Amino acid sequence: MPSGAKIISTGELLVEFVSHRKGCGLETISEFSGPYPSGAPAIFIDQAARMGATTGFFGTVGDDGFGRTLVGRLKEDGVDISGIATDPDRTTGTAFVSYYEDGSRTFIFHLKDTAAEEITFSPDALPDGELILHVSAASLGAAKLRKVILQAVEAVLARGGRISCDPNARPELMRDDAARHALEQIVAQSWCLMPSTSDLGFLFPGLEENAAVEKMLAAKAEIIALKRGAEGATVISGAQRHDFAPHKVEELDPTGAGDGFCGTFVGLLAQGVPLAEAGRRANAAGAIAVTRRGPMEGNSTPEEIDAFLASGEA
Ligand code: ATP
Ligand code: MG
Repeated sequence: MPSGAKIISTGELLVEFVSHRKGCGLETISEFSGPYPSGAPAIFIDQAARMGATTGFFGTVGDDGFGRTLVGRLKEDGVDISGIATDPDRTTGTAFVSYYEDGSRTFIFHLKDTAAEEITFSPDALPDGELILHVSAASLGAAKLRKVILQAVEAVLARGGRISCDPNARPELMRDDAARHALEQIVAQSWCLMPSTSDLGFLFPGLEENAAVEKMLAAKAEIIALKRGAEGATVISGAQRHDFAPHKVEELDPTGAGDGFCGTFVGLLAQGVPLAEAGRRANAAGAIAVTRRGPMEGNSTPEEIDAFLASGEA
């Protein structure tokens, strides 16, 4: 049975199409697979639910097959979907992604004027009991999503709840002053921060990693997870610091690894799992995620994580 604090999230729901050929740059004809359920906050919440946490999502889809596949997946994996609306006048958000040989990727997002940005959220809809709201900062680039997220943050804090945040400080997003301001505000109010090491330079220009961590801990953050991509991860809280070496895996599709890591970590912390164990399992979940094509397809069950960890120890 799910237990502990309820984790909620809100933001863009979308389906993604992944090119099977590297280097097509989304401008030459290629073969794609999809629709894969996606959207950073959706990947996060799906993985937190898989970990056994009590979860809920606020978002909007269109009245179409893409929307049904998204909502169906979240429901099947145990997310409370009562906060997901269907907009009869708009289609579900979509994205296309293609990789280059060096591992970099190019995206085309179609979210503006789709159902993805039409979230209706009212603080009255917040569930009772202990709450954790997760914010995926990539959503803050869209003015409509930013407004809903800031309202949700305020409402959850007013209720004595906690905020977890993945501050994906993408340069394209940070060019927008309003987005940067919202991100800084949320980072300063977060209980748990899970930046990639590549985010630190944007969040704390000129600071070394340890100084940036000190700065986060000097604000409201009690728990920091540093995501190091193929270099593993580090989790820090109070006097505790745990470094996790990377698992050796073949990277097929890295999109979603960060969200799967965060969903595992917060999903387990919300149920009272100790920091070191939550970090160890999140590091494994991130490694599993990169081996599978499709952003949410990379999510894993506790049993799969157990088996993966056991195989590494053999
Ligand atoms: P995203 O690219 O989705 O924004 P991110 O940058 O937030 O992701 P990453 O650091 O790329 O997050 O990945 C999250 C975690 O997944 C890492 O900290 C690590 O634990 C694991 N991971 C990611 N890539 C690899 C890899 N190639 N090999 C082993 N583990 C990996
Ligand atoms: Mg990454």
